[in-house]
Amino acid sequence: MQTRRGDEPRTLPPEPALRVILRRLREIMAEPGGEQSRLDKIVRQISGLMVAEVCSIYLKRQDGSLELFATEGLKKEAVHNTRLKRGEGLVGRCAELAVPINEPDAQQHPAFSYRPETGEEIYHSMLAVPILRSGTVLGVLAVQNRTRREYSDEDVEVLLTTAMVVAEHIVSGAVAGAGAAAELSRSLASVVHGEPISEGIALGHVVLHEPRVVVTKLLAEDIDVELERLEAAMHKLRASLDEMMGIESLAQAGDHREVLEAYRMFANDRGWMRRLEAAVREGLTAEAAVERVQNTTRTRMLRQNDPYWRERLRDLDDLSDRLLRILAGRTTAAREGLELPNDTILVARTMGPAELLDYDRSKLRGLVIEEGSGQSHVAIVARALGLAAVGQARGIVERVATGDPMIVDAETGDVHLRPSSDVVAAYSDKVRFRARRQRQYQALRDVPAITKDGIRISLHINAGLLVDIPHLAESGAEGIGLFRTELQFMISSTFPRRDKQAETYRQIMDGAQGKPVVFRSLDIGGDKILPYIKHPKEENPALGWRAIRMSLDRPGLFRTQVQALIRAAAGRELSIMIPMVSVVSEIEAAKMLISREVEQLEKRGVPRPSKLRIGAMIEVPSLLYELDALMPHVDFVSVGSNDLLQFLFAADRSNAHVGHRYDPLSVSALRALRHVVRTGAVHGVPVTLCGEMAGRPLEAMALIGLGFRTISMAPASIGPVKTMILSLNADKLAGHLEELLQTQSGSIRSHLQEFARAEGVELS
Ligand code: PEP
Ligand code: MG
Repeated sequence: MQTRRGDEPRTLPPEPALRVILRRLREIMAEPGGEQSRLDKIVRQISGLMVAEVCSIYLKRQDGSLELFATEGLKKEAVHNTRLKRGEGLVGRCAELAVPINEPDAQQHPAFSYRPETGEEIYHSMLAVPILRSGTVLGVLAVQNRTRREYSDEDVEVLLTTAMVVAEHIVSGAVAGAGAAAELSRSLASVVHGEPISEGIALGHVVLHEPRVVVTKLLAEDIDVELERLEAAMHKLRASLDEMMGIESLAQAGDHREVLEAYRMFANDRGWMRRLEAAVREGLTAEAAVERVQNTTRTRMLRQNDPYWRERLRDLDDLSDRLLRILAGRTTAAREGLELPNDTILVARTMGPAELLDYDRSKLRGLVIEEGSGQSHVAIVARALGLAAVGQARGIVERVATGDPMIVDAETGDVHLRPSSDVVAAYSDKVRFRARRQRQYQALRDVPAITKDGIRISLHINAGLLVDIPHLAESGAEGIGLFRTELQFMISSTFPRRDKQAETYRQIMDGAQGKPVVFRSLDIGGDKILPYIKHPKEENPALGWRAIRMSLDRPGLFRTQVQALIRAAAGRELSIMIPMVSVVSEIEAAKMLISREVEQLEKRGVPRPSKLRIGAMIEVPSLLYELDALMPHVDFVSVGSNDLLQFLFAADRSNAHVGHRYDPLSVSALRALRHVVRTGAVHGVPVTLCGEMAGRPLEAMALIGLGFRTISMAPASIGPVKTMILSLNADKLAGHLEELLQTQSGSIRSHLQEFARAEGVELS
């Protein structure tokens, strides 16, 4: 490696080679002249400074081939004539794998592709590095020597950084034709498969939730200033991770915690900081140093076969993006007030529920995240907003750019990136079909849900956020059968104070415009953990300290919520439902606490609710055998079939291996539900059901056959369920179902499907 010292005093240490190259490249870029002459000067300089006989720049064209754009050492006639097909030769391989290729005897390599027009037969060794820009390969920078030489690690580093500067030169538009090809890898159609987390289909355009930072200033003006900026940004990054860890360690166990721990480990890794500082000392800005080191990480990531380490390197990659955003002072697309297209599909690695609510929802169509399950809080909000959303879409952030067309199919979990016109046409048909369906449902909005034989069924919606309230009027539902109050708590980063809670409940009651709302008291614990409440680690959280158990052990929380509800009701009717009741004494205790609050508040001038209804959720099988004792204590009961069935079948509702193993339309489950309906009738206590099964037309049909006359479901299910009801003869079904429950065992789904078919019951 040769360094140039010029007129500098002899006492100074030699200037690092990279600094010399960077300085020379800066000078070249500032010089007047055409683009080709600049590229020619660049290759000449690099070959001289790296003591290489050849230095060439190949750039990627639209079709993925690599064209020789400039060379020092190869025959000049080859420039713009030599083209390597995608993946062809060592240079093509370098571009394809996005990794440096260091070959002392390139011609002996099986992948070597000989091009006589270049005259390269006399050169044996080759070092080729990808020209990368924000993770996209733009081309290849290669040096060659006659001798069989293995280039040193330092050579590789120097050439990689040089390639970054060349990339900057290319994307700044200096090289005609190459800029257009630059985004090639982000311009091909492809499909990423994930998990649907909120049903629907969306056609639209990508907005990256965390906009990609494009580093435009590569060369440092003042190295000390850049080192300080780097240090300050790193400090901020660490502080933000500590803060997230403080919250999230309580909020989420498992995978997410592991990722955060990996982040923290990397953020405190001296090696990473040393590499970043070294890159700055060589003459890069802090941003360029981060990107430079990130490119090496990406290279290692691509080569890594071990899935665990590949994931960890992805974490480091993500962390580098965060650091870049801190340096560039960027936040999220919503916070930056970016103009959103009217068909925005948000794409993010992770996203919190509050962040999703930051966006103008009238512009949103879909959401795609790399992490996140159907149980995640952001999924809850996505469902409330009616977005088509897919989670577990691994690697999607790297593969898209803001503005890309995208289709989210949250029925299958497929995410189509830059879809072809055929795919767009097929999905447009699908969307039109769904829209037609939707219009049919809307037409039923004000039609009462009455069966063909004249039985009226009361349909209610489940809700949990203020954004759900418009669904009440849109769906034509009679009320809110389940308001999951914990959702408001889950999307908040601190405990909502009593006044804030009261304000939310008041807005909900006002928004319901006189329609009944059943507020469920806090159902936290299990998978619903609040970041700001200390929760012991539990082996079996579903069977653990949750819901009413927690409320009775920590009555302060419960009382605050009850006070907020009474104040919000301000003399109107109030319905409170208690989750996870396992024994009758729990409902007695809850009622006692509630009536005490009513008395106390009345003394302070807060009016009593005109009517106070207190109900129990039937979610724990033990209660099935104590229903006669329970009924006299409650004004209504509501079956939480999601939990009841998970406990009945001992099958975790969120575990994909067992969650769908047992059919809710099984004789055992249906007999249990029938028992609740019958006991309610004996005691004159209204019985409803508010689990997910109420929203599936066939299941809802079975519930009506069992005698349920009120059910509560997701707003989008009201239309399909009402359609089913309007075409059903409930009495005929009841007789048939009774017979099935006496004669069959296991699932009776196929029998019920057959009944629906024979009777013309519409199941959409
Ligand atoms: C249920 O368990 O069926 C229910 C409605 O409550 P959640 O889904 O909120 O647990
Ligand atoms: Mg439940």
